[in-house]
Amino acid sequence: MLHDIYTRPLKDLRISVTDRCNFRCTYCMPFDDYEWIAKKELLTFEEIARLAGLFVRLGVDKIRLTGGEPLLRRDLEKLIGKLSSLNGLEDLCLTTNGSVLAGKVAALKSAGLRRINVSLDTLNSEKFARIRRRGDLAKVLEGLFAAKRCGLHPIKINVVVERGVNDDDIIDLVEFSRKSGFALRFIEYMDVGNSNNWTSEKLVSKKEILDTIDARYPLREVGRDKGSAPSMDYEFIDGQGEIGVIASVTEPFCSTCTRARLTADGKLVTCLFSATAYDLKVLLRNGAADEEIVEIVSAIWRKRADRYSDKRLEAMNSGRGYRAKDYKKIEMITLGG
Ligand code: SF4
Repeated sequence: MLHDIYTRPLKDLRISVTDRCNFRCTYCMPFDDYEWIAKKELLTFEEIARLAGLFVRLGVDKIRLTGGEPLLRRDLEKLIGKLSSLNGLEDLCLTTNGSVLAGKVAALKSAGLRRINVSLDTLNSEKFARIRRRGDLAKVLEGLFAAKRCGLHPIKINVVVERGVNDDDIIDLVEFSRKSGFALRFIEYMDVGNSNNWTSEKLVSKKEILDTIDARYPLREVGRDKGSAPSMDYEFIDGQGEIGVIASVTEPFCSTCTRARLTADGKLVTCLFSATAYDLKVLLRNGAADEEIVEIVSAIWRKRADRYSDKRLEAMNSGRGYRAKDYKKIEMITLGG
């Protein structure tokens, strides 16, 4: 098995299929001068499937499709069909903003998608408009319930919690999920990209999130899926569902990070906070053989030394402080989160 310099295996691949999005969420896409990837630079479904197959050969057993908004990529179910038949792939999932999910979920399910994550930070339509800056809460809810009717399971709702923005929505979201049978994933507000104006004051810690929920609906820790998932999971003691918290800032999990990312234009990125990427599309389009690509990806992974969130916490605790703006990163809209 392939390991990086901290002996972390390559197990997960997050593939962005487009950087386009129909929302402009304040924590992901807060700027207007972003240069979109040109259409001819996007990997074709055949190219994505070929690379995915090579990553599976190297040990990847889980693939998540992201964007931008992945459902804006036309005929995405065709890609799902190709990926779901890869030998050795155990888990194929999709993260979406839910805006056009209702009309597409049946085709996605038929093509082999089994589970889904939907980003939703509030159930208050006014606040939704402020955070997302485009789109319609009702459409996202419609998408969630359409996914449920189609039998996708589990359906997880991803919530980025930002102080003063939606930290007072936590209980509403918990009650909605418990009632509707959705699982919740709370995500600490992070300094992804270069322009979301992150400061530690905007952070609502995992401890605060858990204390808020536990005071109303007592929780019991379950642990991380497979021991290495980003989310620490909890179940409600009354048996009515579960939540998870992704605490990248206050309890980083770099030591167990097995994730690589592939951008929509075919660049391999080894950390969510990377400043650099490795162009695999050039190899594909210059006729590289599978063995050559496998060798190059292996060499990149063997040298991988990323532990950005660990270092962030060390800086925050050191007294010298941490200023997100001092670190240049690839934008989240490009990376797919
Ligand atoms: S900061 Fe980078 S290395 Fe650490 S968990 Fe996140 S993606 Fe993995």
